[in-house]
Order: sequence, then C-alpha cells, then structure tokens
Amino acid sequence: MNTAIVVGAGIGGVTAAVALQQCGWQVTVLERAPELGEVGAGISVWPSAVAVLEQLGVKGVEKASAVSAPASMRRPDGRVIVAAADLGVEVPVMIHRAQLHDLITAEFGPAITVRTGYQVRTISQDDAGVTINDELRADLVVAADGIRSVIRSALVPAYEGPRYSGYTAYRGIAEVATTDGGGETWGKGERFGFARLIDGRIYWYATANQPAGQSSGPDAFSDWHDPIPALLAATKDVLQNDIYDLSVPLVPFTHGRIVLLGDAAHAMTPNLGRGACTAIEDAGALARCLEEGPDLSAALTRYDAERRPAATKLVKRSRSIGRVGQVENPVIRAIRDGLFGFGGKLMSLRRPKAQVKQSRA
Ligand SMILES: Cc1cc2nc3c(=O)[nH]c(=O)nc-3n(C[C@H](O)[C@H](O)[C@H](O)COP(=O)(O)OP(=O)(O)OC[C@H]3O[C@@H](n4cnc5c(N)ncnc54)[C@H](O)[C@@H]3O)c2cc1C
Repeated sequence: MNTAIVVGAGIGGVTAAVALQQCGWQVTVLERAPELGEVGAGISVWPSAVAVLEQLGVKGVEKASAVSAPASMRRPDGRVIVAAADLGVEVPVMIHRAQLHDLITAEFGPAITVRTGYQVRTISQDDAGVTINDELRADLVVAADGIRSVIRSALVPAYEGPRYSGYTAYRGIAEVATTDGGGETWGKGERFGFARLIDGRIYWYATANQPAGQSSGPDAFSDWHDPIPALLAATKDVLQNDIYDLSVPLVPFTHGRIVLLGDAAHAMTPNLGRGACTAIEDAGALARCLEEGPDLSAALTRYDAERRPAATKLVKRSRSIGRVGQVENPVIRAIRDGLFGFGGKLMSLRRPKAQVKQSRA
C-alpha cells in the first residue's frame, strides 16, 4: 500500500489526509500541537470547497453552517455605502472553525494515524521515498505546515517567505441579540465585519493598520455603529493575527515526492475569505491527480499545473482588496466609497427579476 505523511493538521492537512485515505493510501498525520483542533472563530466556506468536502465524504458542513445573508457595506457612523440586497452572486456559508475541523476529522478511518506533539524539523528524499526527522519514511509527504512552513524553507531556502500586509486582524464570537444581517463597515484604515453562525452567535472580525507585533486591541471600533459596541462588549476572547501572505508566488508547489498544500504553498490575506477553502480545493485536486494514474511524478506535475495558477491569482486579488480596504487618505476613501456605492446599485439593477408565473386558476 502507498504511504503518505501529512505534516500539519490544520484544515488543509486534515482534508489532505481524508483525500489520501479515499485514494487507498496509508496516512500518518504529524502535528506539533498537543491536540487536534482549530481556533475559536468563524470561517466562510465557499460552494466550491463545500463541493470538494462532499466528494471526499465529509458530511454535514451545510447543515452546520448559516447561509450568508445579503450583506450591506457601511461607514463607521452607520451610513450605507452599499445596501444589503440579494445580488444573485455566489455566497459562502459560515461555520465555526472548530466544527468544520471536527466534521473533517470525523471521517478519519483506520488508514489514518495521527501523532500530535510531533514537530517536524528535517526532511530529505531519495528516489524511493521521503524521510522526516531521520526516523519516519513514506512514499509521499504533503507539507500542510502553514505560512511559516519548515518544509518550504528546507526545499527553497532562498524563498523570501511571508510578507507583512501592514494591518492586523482581530476576531471574536459574541452572543448578542440583533436583527442586523451583518456585512462590512469601512473606516480610515480600519474595517469591521460580522456574520451569524448557525447557533445564533455572531462571528466578527476587524482589521487595523499598524506595525507588525503591536496590539492595541479592537477598542478603536467601540464607537462605531450598532451592534458593533455590543459585539465587542460581549466577546470573551479576542484573537489577534498580524496579516501576512506569500505575495511572491512560490514556484513550483511540488519537489520530487513532496507536495506543498494550503498556506504552506499560497498563504493569502483573508480579504476574500478563501485561504482555507483553497487548501480544501488543493486536497481535492491532489486526490484526483493521484487517482488519474499510478505515476506519482506525473500526478504531482498535474497538481502543480492545476493549483498554482488558481491559488496565485487569489493571493494577488486578496492583497489588492486589502490595499483598497485599508486606505487612510480621505479623498481616496470618498472616491472608493462612491465607486462601491455606484457599483452596488448597478449590480442590483442588472440582477434578473424573479419570474412571476401566471396561474390558470
Ligand atoms: C483573520 C483571518 C480570517 C480568515 N478567514 C477565512 C475565511 O473566512 N475563509 C477561509 O477559507 N479562510 C480564511 N482564513 C485563512 C485560513 O485561516 C487559512 O488559509 C487556513 O487556516 C490555512 O490552513 P492550513 O491547513 O494550510 O494551515 P494552518 O491552519 O496554519 O495549519 C498548519 C498546521 O501545521 C502545524 N505545523 C506547523 N509547523 C509544523 C511542524 N514543523 N511540525 C508539525 N506540525 C507543524 C501547525 O501547528 C498547524 O496546525 C482566514 C485567516 C485569517 C488570519
């Protein structure tokens, strides 16, 4: 039986393990954290990623998710830039990260062994296989070890690595009774967004321009429009992540018998809400490429040809949206908000009207 080691048990790694299991591989997942799990925040899952999870046999994602409501775009004082309207565009579902992670690992069968508290430090390969930490061996290694991937550094030491975006992100979950459908509010180099989870709690996130490594907390948003102050007041644990991406494209995503997946290959800023979704799609594509033929090298070449252009495009788009969203200059902000308002109106006019069926009776 073919053997694989997946390094990292984030959403990308655990999906890759399920994908390889489905292809009939024996899989070992190595995770440095003492336990499997995810952070306490929400996550948007786009239809393409939901479809991959369903193909891999991961059940119940839609059932455990809230369908995103039409979202408005506002200014900090509550004035509307783009009104909430059903624009007929594709929208993601919202789920708690830990729940998504649990749904994926629930599909781990006997072909998957998990070793937590295991830190990968070294990797080497020859024609017959890959060796990790001079002790574990497999036919294939999937590097799903995140934006600061040790494996990527070992394979491509000259690669520039993560680049700071200029802003930090705060996230939290709050229990607040509100009828507000959510959306995003854009201020001066600051943004705040929120959406409902299926259990009625609200997942919120906020971004603020500041040097890396600082923490001023989300207090700057506490005089923004309702229900933002209430959301902040009702949040117990606030997560903070300085936002980095791999804006210099990594080329290629595969090296011999080692394949990079998820943030290890293409970490993107969270502006499109697609980083984890792209990792899930990587895992689906890897399984498909492996199933197409027994030649591992050809399969990994197909994976690279399919996933690298798609992911590289998203990294670039996501960074551009972040740049526009984090603008501080008042003139540019006014032009930006005006253009978004006009674009929103245009889209709602173009939206095909619902067909009214004539009843005979
Ligand atoms: C604020 C914010 C909001 C976001 N919102 C969304 C969203 O709504 N939708 C979306 O799709 N994406 C979103 N993302 C992006 C998403 O979180 C990431 O793209 C995704 O989690 C990456 O998954 P991964 O498995 O590739 O990497 P990670 O989640 O980083 O997992 C890597 C794992 O590898 C382990 N590891 C690392 N090094 C080693 C080692 N040497 N040995 C063993 N184990 C190791 C780590 O402990 C970790 O568990 C957001 C990101 C941020 C910061």
